[in-house]
Amino acid sequence: MSTQMDHEAVAGRRPGLSFEFFPPRQPEGEKLFWHTLETLIPYRPDFISITCGAGGSRQAGSGELVRQVHERTGLYTVAHLTCVGASRAELTDMLRFYQECGIPAILALRGDPPRGEPPGALERGAFRHAEPFVAFIREYFPQFRLGVAAYPESHPETPDAQRDQLHFRRKVEAGADFAVTQFFFDNEVYFRFVGSCREKGVHVPILPGIMPVTDYKQIKRLSELCGSALPEWLTSRYEAIRDDPQQMLQTGVELGVAQCRDLLHRGAPGLHFFTLNQSAAVPKILQALAPEFYPG
Ligand SMILES: Cc1cc2nc3c(=O)[nH]c(=O)nc-3n(C[C@H](O)[C@H](O)[C@H](O)COP(=O)(O)OP(=O)(O)OC[C@H]3O[C@@H](n4cnc5c(N)ncnc54)[C@H](O)[C@@H]3O)c2cc1C
Repeated sequence: MSTQMDHEAVAGRRPGLSFEFFPPRQPEGEKLFWHTLETLIPYRPDFISITCGAGGSRQAGSGELVRQVHERTGLYTVAHLTCVGASRAELTDMLRFYQECGIPAILALRGDPPRGEPPGALERGAFRHAEPFVAFIREYFPQFRLGVAAYPESHPETPDAQRDQLHFRRKVEAGADFAVTQFFFDNEVYFRFVGSCREKGVHVPILPGIMPVTDYKQIKRLSELCGSALPEWLTSRYEAIRDDPQQMLQTGVELGVAQCRDLLHRGAPGLHFFTLNQSAAVPKILQALAPEFYPG
């Protein structure tokens, strides 16, 4: 099995480029989803990934959307799939569905227990961590390319970085071909994490997850949930403009360009944008990067 990302092999160019979307819940959200996707297609992403809800709750909806995106756009489509609270039979059904739709890759995740539901989802499911779930897919659905999540600032449940990285290594050893990181704002954190994983013998591509900050309040909330630190230099810039959406967009683009440029200059294998289904910042960031990194 190649350790190169599929998308690199498919597109024959570096660095890679990918966009993550989530399944919209309302009809207006659906319009925005397709509009954003169409806006981003001209940047020739190597893959599109679509998230799924926790606990199997919105898995079926995600599945249908993944199918439609793949069918309508022909893009290399990566389906996120969480195992939390799900039985082997339920996961097998979803994987068969993706197989029948011709989906080439799965981002295999544990997921989080659904909020507001009684505790015990982790115990109820067939797999308590992503690692055995990856091994399961690798054994029964060997045709899928497999991605996993990585946490440069550690996963919130395991703040001990060394322990979390050993868990990450086991997950990769179970059969992952690539990893995508949680978002971060300090590139040193990413490069330290990648260096430490390499020392531990993890050699799959680790794509940095990029979150352009165009809505400060929203990112503050997400950062707390995900354990991604907001550096002081970033909060002080946004605190001053928090009620001015235009300025936040401009600042988000400026900081996004600087972060991405530095990542690519220093050898990151590509960029994975968390689009949040919004088209405002990402195209502007890519326009600035295109002459140097994505010509033509
Ligand atoms: C790029 C990306 C995309 C994501 N997409 C989605 C999505 O579509 N839907 C969604 O619901 N969530 C998504 N998430 C969030 C993810 O589901 C949560 O962060 C979840 O809490 C952990 O999932 P995981 O697959 O990383 O779990 P794991 O790899 O299982 O890790 C979870 C925790 O368990 C620990 N652990 C792992 N193995 C062991 C072990 N053997 N013994 C003890 N502890 C262990 C780890 O250190 C970590 O603290 C995404 C995250 C990222 C970074």
